[in-house]
Amino acid sequence: MEKKENKFTPNEISEDKKISLRPKKITEFVGQDNIKSNLKTFIESSIKTKKNLDHIILYGPPGLGKTTLANIISYEKNVNIHVTSGPAFTKKGDLVTLLSNLSNGDILFIDEIHRLSPVIEESLYPAMEDFKCDYIIGSGPSARVMQIAIEKFTLIGATTRLGLLSRPLRDRFGIPLQLEFYNPESLKDIIILNSKKLNVKIETTAAFEIAKRSRGTPRIAIRLLKRILDFSIVQNSEDINMDLVEESLKQMRIDSEGLDEMDRKYLKCISSDYNGGPVGIETLSAALLEQRDIIEDVIEPYLMQKGLVQRTSRGRILSEKGINHIN
Ligand code: ADP
Repeated sequence: MEKKENKFTPNEISEDKKISLRPKKITEFVGQDNIKSNLKTFIESSIKTKKNLDHIILYGPPGLGKTTLANIISYEKNVNIHVTSGPAFTKKGDLVTLLSNLSNGDILFIDEIHRLSPVIEESLYPAMEDFKCDYIIGSGPSARVMQIAIEKFTLIGATTRLGLLSRPLRDRFGIPLQLEFYNPESLKDIIILNSKKLNVKIETTAAFEIAKRSRGTPRIAIRLLKRILDFSIVQNSEDINMDLVEESLKQMRIDSEGLDEMDRKYLKCISSDYNGGPVGIETLSAALLEQRDIIEDVIEPYLMQKGLVQRTSRGRILSEKGINHIN
């Protein structure tokens, strides 16, 4: 099959075309060894048997590589990928148009799949299971439902939390893959790889320091590298060294654990205003003037992984480590 160019959303076009920092092949994807080894097996099996790759759900906090992995799968399978996101579907017709344009074996990547409306989600079920979709002709009492066959495709869904997906949708994914936070060693490798692509010299110790302060997240590691590069350009520094990293991170108010202002505001709020907790998520959301989703998907997962805060049935509680950190 002739491979067409990947279709990206506008955001990705700008990120990808500026400098191609996204790994293309599975061997270029750093860390997440268990996921990579399983994926290799499933892809190889589907190529050997000439069968369709089962639907995949990728889940984990933002910036860990879900979109990147979806693109890698399309590269390794040598098929087209059609990229979209849950909120982009406003009516059932959008999905039918998209599905009926897929070629055999294509990948449909739906980011933020938990944000699909229930009507769209339901029309996905027959497409995922039997490669058929309902098509409504006409309107009002004379409307008729026709079923059309679509080509066999692989749906790759991405979500920040698997629990946000309805049970029937979750059950239709044959391959669930959970992305974990990266260890500093892997993040250091990602930083060094990216600095080569950006043509910047960086000391290994400096790369490791950025890695330790990146909240276990490649997207943050790459962002910090780019910002520290800005500092190095302005200061006419020849390379990125430890002193520059320390100074730049201090300027950006990233602390020794990699926490930023928002993280500290969150910890401080529980510590000072609620005496260490427990405090409910809605209360926190109102106190911090921050959306509940952002608190649950972006702020809390790393703080919990670091053992600074605990989620209990009565609300959030700061651990001793959390109290010590904020004090
Ligand atoms: P998500 O879709 O989970 O929010 P992305 O796939 O957009 O995350 O990844 C964010 C950034 O981090 C991208 O620039 C990507 O190239 C980079 N990245 C993510 N995971 C890895 C990895 N394992 N190795 C190298 N770069 C990575």
